[in-house]
Amino acid sequence: MTFESENPNAEALRAQRAAENRHVFWGAARRLVARATSGMSSAALCVLCVSALGFGSSGAQQAPKYEVYAIRYAQIPFKVSNLIEGADPARSIDIAMIVVLIKGPNGRNVLFDAGFYRPQLMNQWKPQAYIRPDSAVAKFGVRPEDISDVIISHIHWDHFDGADLFPKAKVWIQRDEIEHHVDSAGGVLNRAITAYDAKMLNDIRAAGRLAIAEGDAKEIIPGITVYTGGKHTFQSQYVTVNTAEGTVLLASDNAYLYENFDKHVPISQSVDKASNLAAQDRMLKLVSNPRLIVTGHDPAVFTRFPEVAPGVVRIK
Ligand SMILES: [Zn+2]
Repeated sequence: MTFESENPNAEALRAQRAAENRHVFWGAARRLVARATSGMSSAALCVLCVSALGFGSSGAQQAPKYEVYAIRYAQIPFKVSNLIEGADPARSIDIAMIVVLIKGPNGRNVLFDAGFYRPQLMNQWKPQAYIRPDSAVAKFGVRPEDISDVIISHIHWDHFDGADLFPKAKVWIQRDEIEHHVDSAGGVLNRAITAYDAKMLNDIRAAGRLAIAEGDAKEIIPGITVYTGGKHTFQSQYVTVNTAEGTVLLASDNAYLYENFDKHVPISQSVDKASNLAAQDRMLKLVSNPRLIVTGHDPAVFTRFPEVAPGVVRIK
């Protein structure tokens, strides 16, 4: 893409992309082995399985290990009953508005969710302790143009609106999420997305920076895998990240608070509550340790993990 040639980290990015291409190659090789063996006896299959597993394990060894940092860029008072199905309507908490910086080898910086900044939203929500998401990542010495990828969990304003603050990033969204909400001209098909964010999505697409995530359990970046089924919106996604401490899971609004897990109840705002609850059960199986789950808006994220700066914790 043209934006790479202007990036001071272009060399490192090219090496990273070459590694990704090798990764895609081995993925294709595994699929070919699977296709070639579909008609063979189980004994023959076993022999080939071993070599296929060999690819898998060497791939796992090579998967980069990331450092994961949750950053609170604002807080907003919110009714718990709008987060947890069946909660007492009198309960209220200051929810954390969160972006997650995923720092990888070779200077690769991936952002999970992009926050919000447009004046309409600032006026409507009046966030407290607000820091614009691009300034929030600057705490790490990361400039907006240093973000290589932005993974968007879903198209709601508080997760997607800031995507255009990062001018050189690929922006990853599920295909079904895009097609359900925005038409080919950037018009709104479903009011879960605002008109200005639908236009922004179209602008990012026109600039060649929209990266399509295609469905469930897809490793879109080496060591970073996206999953569907959370059904907060039509095709919201959550991700796992390979770290030195094991597999970390970033749930976003597919699990708003730790209370969802503790009480085994779905989120209040879901297009499919049964699917949401099943996704939460699956999340617990995907992580190395249940404590490595980062929920979408729980202020407890910032007390459960070690603080590295005010409003910033390292997920470990
Ligand atoms: Zn949210």
